[in-house]
Parts: sequence; C-alpha cells; structure tokens
Amino acid sequence: MRLPFTLLIDPVPADSLQQDFSDTFHEMESTAPALRVGELSTQRGDGIFETLAVVNGHPQEVEPHISRLRNSARICELPVPNAEQWRAAIAYAVSRIPQRGEIALKFVLSRGVEHGPAPTAWLHAAAASDFTAVRGSGVRVITLDRGYPRGVAEKAPWLLMGAKTLSYAVNMAAIREAHRRGADDTIFLTTDGFVMEGPTSSVVLFINGEYVTPAPSGAILHGTTQQSMFDYLRAQGSAVEYRDVTLDELRQADAAWLVSSVRLAVSVVALDGEPFPADQALTDTLNAYLLARTA
Ligand code: PLP
Repeated sequence: MRLPFTLLIDPVPADSLQQDFSDTFHEMESTAPALRVGELSTQRGDGIFETLAVVNGHPQEVEPHISRLRNSARICELPVPNAEQWRAAIAYAVSRIPQRGEIALKFVLSRGVEHGPAPTAWLHAAAASDFTAVRGSGVRVITLDRGYPRGVAEKAPWLLMGAKTLSYAVNMAAIREAHRRGADDTIFLTTDGFVMEGPTSSVVLFINGEYVTPAPSGAILHGTTQQSMFDYLRAQGSAVEYRDVTLDELRQADAAWLVSSVRLAVSVVALDGEPFPADQALTDTLNAYLLARTA
C-alpha cells in the first residue's frame, strides 16, 4: 500500500481473446527510469490519457473513462485499447494503493517509440492535491478565446478536438494566463463567442431554472463528472440540457461550475473580474454526492 504507484502495461489488441491480463502489466519503482528517449508521447505529446479519482479505495467512473480513452484512440488513429485489460490494470492498481483518502489515477496510451515497439502504456497513481479549500470557496475565472470557431471538429478533424491527448501545453498556458490576470482558471470560448470548456474541466451553468452544459459535439470532451452531476440533478427532478451557450448567457447565468474528476465541482465566484453569483450549498451537496460514488 504505497504511493506513488506505477504500472507499465503491454497493450493487447481490442479483439484479443485473452482473459487473464496479469502477465501484461508489471509494477515499476516510480522513481526508476521507465520510458525510452524515443517515446513519441514525450517527444510529440502523441498519446492519450485519462485521470480518474480513487476515493477511499473506490475507483470512480471507470467505465466512462475507459470508453472515453477508446474514443480518443479512434480519433487519434491509435490502436483501440482493450477495455478488459484496462479494467484489470485499474483494479490491480487500486488493490495496491492506500484504501483511504483521495488519489489521482492517471492512465496513458502512447503511440510508442519512434521506429520501435508501439504502442506503449502506463498507469500512475499519486495522492490528489487537497481541494477542500477551493471546493468551499470557488474559483475566479476568465474567459479566453480558444482560437477556433464553433463546428471546428467537423471541419478540421486533424486538430483532434474532442480527444484527450497528452498535448496539454495550450491548456496549461491558459491557466498561467488566468494567474497573470489575477484569476484561478479559464473558460475557453470559440472565436464566435460560444462557451466550450475549461482547460481541465467541463462547464455547467444554471440558467432560467435549468442546468445547462455545452453539447460535447466533438470540439470538447464529454466530461465524466458533468455526466455524474447531471445524473444526480435529474434524480432530484431538476431539468438538465446539452446545448450551445453564448458568452452573454454565461455572463447572465445564476450560477456556474467547473467540474472534473479529481477537483470535482468548484463554483465560479468571479467572471472576467466581476463578482459572479454562486450556490455554495448546492456545490457542497454535489461534492458530497460525487465523493460518495463507489463506481
Ligand atoms: N475538459 C478537459 C479539457 C479536461 O481536461 C477535463 C478533465 O481533465 C474535463 C473536460 C473534465 O473531464 P472529467 O470530468 O472526465 O475529468
């Protein structure tokens, strides 16, 4: 039971008839060298990943994360991951890490080594940052132009919008820009003024008595946390909807959240330097619900 925890994985084809995958992954010392210099994931960001939360020994939303990994692989023309193998690797990792507290479990599929074996894959679990404060007090957010119009995914599929690739340099730069402007996080907009997502989160708004999130039309990720949040809200009898949201609607919303697997739900408390209404009681209830998930 130790952290960090690392597993190197030999990906097997999606249609493999193999049933026992225990000989397809092995534990590594987390501080030991594990990747070759020719890795295309490190050289070019050419790979895909997922991060899920393990809370008190329960990995959360394993199936939606595996299914999104498979979707990212299809978009990037990577060999489609074998779902059974990833389930087995995640279950093994969870059995080897502490059973208390919040842990971030990241799993990666890379195009592999240049001129060498392909693809390569690994899983890495580490203690999650302590998000208690930000869950309780919210985030100041700026809006930033993502540089693409609405509909870009259909017009330019080679941009790999909608795939969770390892190329997060732009996403990290957007967070640094937020810090430069005295804020904590960012909401990306299309060039024609539609709300997209955060650099590491989905955006959910409360507008006119309804919870709304931009449709995952291909330009943004379909967030697993946003889907859990909608399940919860639907079960409470609230109206939820996927649709286009303009910047004006965001500005006039009654509340907004950034939601993601490990930080969970955080309220937007300022937008582009102006105070923004927040529903902290609902945020607390949502986070209690999200933390209590056992699958
Ligand atoms: N959008 C982007 C760009 C992300 O990086 C993430 C999570 O990392 C999300 C949305 C939210 O997805 P999830 O709720 O599955 O973590």
